[in-house]
Amino acid sequence: MNTKNLRKGTVAVHAGVEPDPTTGAIMTPIYQTSTFAQEAPGVHKGYEYARTQNPTRHALEKSIAALENAQFGYCFASGMAATDTLMKLLKPGDEVLVTNDLYGGTYRIFTKVFAEYGIKFKFISMASAEDVQSHFTSSVKMVWIETPTNPLMNIIDIAEISKMAKANGALAVVDNTFATPILQNPLDLGADIVVHSVTKYIGGHSDTVLGAVATNKEDIAEKLAFLQNSCGAIPGPQDCFLVLRGIKTLQLRMQRHCENGEKIAAFLSNDFRVGEVYWPGLDSHKNHAIAKKQMHGFGGMISFTPKEDKIDKAIQILKNFKLFTLAESLGGVESLCGLPSMMTHASIPKEEREKAGLKDSLIRLSVGIEDAEDLLEDLDQALI
Ligand SMILES: *Cc1c(COP(=O)(O)O)cnc(C)c1O
Repeated sequence: MNTKNLRKGTVAVHAGVEPDPTTGAIMTPIYQTSTFAQEAPGVHKGYEYARTQNPTRHALEKSIAALENAQFGYCFASGMAATDTLMKLLKPGDEVLVTNDLYGGTYRIFTKVFAEYGIKFKFISMASAEDVQSHFTSSVKMVWIETPTNPLMNIIDIAEISKMAKANGALAVVDNTFATPILQNPLDLGADIVVHSVTKYIGGHSDTVLGAVATNKEDIAEKLAFLQNSCGAIPGPQDCFLVLRGIKTLQLRMQRHCENGEKIAAFLSNDFRVGEVYWPGLDSHKNHAIAKKQMHGFGGMISFTPKEDKIDKAIQILKNFKLFTLAESLGGVESLCGLPSMMTHASIPKEEREKAGLKDSLIRLSVGIEDAEDLLEDLDQALI
């Protein structure tokens, strides 16, 4: 279905999905096959070998592209496989400007894997767009933005920095995992490429690991298709099916994540046992104005510190939770909690973390879609 002029909730239900041509099945079947019969050498129905094309994956790629207002979408075996593919657009000697508060796995693949291949990474604060300008040199070929940042929920001005990247001949890439295409559309704001860990909100049910990239640039799309097929980090059709199913409720889920996020952020902000609260929807958030400008809602990711800035306090609070499950990951229907300094961000050296303002006692919540009152009661009994 052409969903071009339709709204996001409708796009989420319909994009990429057509009744199956042979049976009329409403849901895209799981095409669990590695190859496809040809009538004569080179004469086929558009599918030759499942690394190159698979109809279930194709439906998912169209769906995610439509949600990001993109012409082209590609899915990968994980968010990291998507990031890995994007790095292969670069050559030795190229430099990437990277936000200094980001997903730990992204930091790891940049510093431990691609730095070995001669790609340079400069981790900088992107809190003020003007500060970014001074870091551009002729070797900067890409700017890597993650916003809201993980786990400090800083907001980076996508439009300003994308404009700057363009003026300096660099590609602007946005990791849109936290916001989802429902709450933020980086390509509309001028970014060249958007990348997702689909594992999180887009899949939404904590049952699949998958990644995606979307773009409107034909030359980049061609390279991505080539890399996807050449390197082969593709998702299987079962996983694509699960994500297609998850996407249908993406807008509904995000509405609830935002509502619950707002209630929990308000509760934490007013509790004497809590120190800092990081949620972009709060008036007191330092980048609230940019968040309001570029996001359609503020999501369910919230970080906070205990009043007493001690890691032991944070660990005790995490142990006290009954409903929030202590686990890595985020974006599922169920609420999760974690301690980034010892979990998701342990691969970032302590001094780097401190430079970015990430305290060891910071607790990160992925607020699910449960009844807010139950979540608030759990928080109330867990805080000390
Ligand atoms: C989880 C995550 C990734 C990595 O994705 P995987 O699907 O786990 O490989 C990248 N960026 C962000 C912001 C994430 O939260």
